[in-house]
Amino acid sequence: MMIIDVRKLNAQKKYTGSMEFEYSAPKELIEIPFVSFASSVKVRFDYQLYEDDSLDIRGTVCYQLEGQCSRCLKDAKTEVKGELDAYFQPFKNGEDYSYSGGVIDLTQAINEAVMASMPFTLSCGDDCQGILYASETEN
Ligand SMILES: [Zn+2]
Repeated sequence: MMIIDVRKLNAQKKYTGSMEFEYSAPKELIEIPFVSFASSVKVRFDYQLYEDDSLDIRGTVCYQLEGQCSRCLKDAKTEVKGELDAYFQPFKNGEDYSYSGGVIDLTQAINEAVMASMPFTLSCGDDCQGILYASETEN
């Protein structure tokens, strides 16, 4: 699922194309307290395979988060969209992803795209009045 078989793409001469799938991201990617994934992560991207067997992918990761609003602690849910942009080479080279055996495992690149898109807080919405206001009105 999370694998691109470069040998197969070469054999079929599919040097460009697009792919789309969903996966269950590990909850360790979330750093906001009391928040978890409310959906699987939808992954979509276009790829380009070059003559030297390097592969470029560009697309998006999309998912929902649910949990407690970071300000007022009410239940909240939000949709997050992030960029997926990765370059794989069949040898180690600096910061790029590398792969071997003609098969690319996308897991690390996708997890990193999810982490990069992760908000620092979860909000119940633009009209969130925060926990300070809530406690003042109670008194
Ligand atoms: Zn709130």
